[in-house]
Amino acid sequence: MGDQKSPGSHRAAKDTDRRLGRRALLIGGAAAAVSAAGLARDELGRVWWRIPGVEKDRREGEVDFRGAQWVAASSANRRRADRPDDYEIDRVIIHVAQGSYATALNVFRDPGHGAASHYVVRKDGHIAQMIRELDVAFHAGNRAYNERSVGIEHEGFVDQESSFTDAMYRASARLTAGICARYEIPVDREHIIGHVEVPGTDHTDPGPHWDWDRYIRLVREARTASA
Ligand SMILES: [Zn+2]
Repeated sequence: MGDQKSPGSHRAAKDTDRRLGRRALLIGGAAAAVSAAGLARDELGRVWWRIPGVEKDRREGEVDFRGAQWVAASSANRRRADRPDDYEIDRVIIHVAQGSYATALNVFRDPGHGAASHYVVRKDGHIAQMIRELDVAFHAGNRAYNERSVGIEHEGFVDQESSFTDAMYRASARLTAGICARYEIPVDREHIIGHVEVPGTDHTDPGPHWDWDRYIRLVREARTASA
């Protein structure tokens, strides 16, 4: 996606700036062009979203993974986007919540939390989707990695091996397999990573008890089964 990756194209906007995404910057270019024709900048600001093809259709409560329960995160914990058209998705990032499923849902619904992931997986394999894959979730603590990834949070604690149940591994692996299929992401440890592997992070999740060999094997099995 050549020019979309040009240096400095999103440097101006902060990670928390939900309004001024790359799409708006592109439209900003259009605004500059038509301002010569006398269209006021603020007027264009009100109409840009009506331009055909600007965004994909969204329906309230729609999920990207069949069977997931939609529980909306606060809009303060994500940035509206139009992936994979504006940002290529090539990573799945695995997290452990350091808390329960209910706690994770609560903090991701809290506009003051400043972070949320796309999905939360419960011990029994139940999955909540809180942010559409179209959108950028603030989960990796790294702007570029937020933009290129889907984040999956898991109920439990990094130092508690019993947090990670068979049902959780299997449900999460099916979810990751679906993400890898949708965006043609290779099923390997280069593309399915832990939060700990995100450049610049001070987070340690998913921690030493997360069984990567088992997880990647389950993702591959799920990927093959659905192919
Ligand atoms: Zn994390």
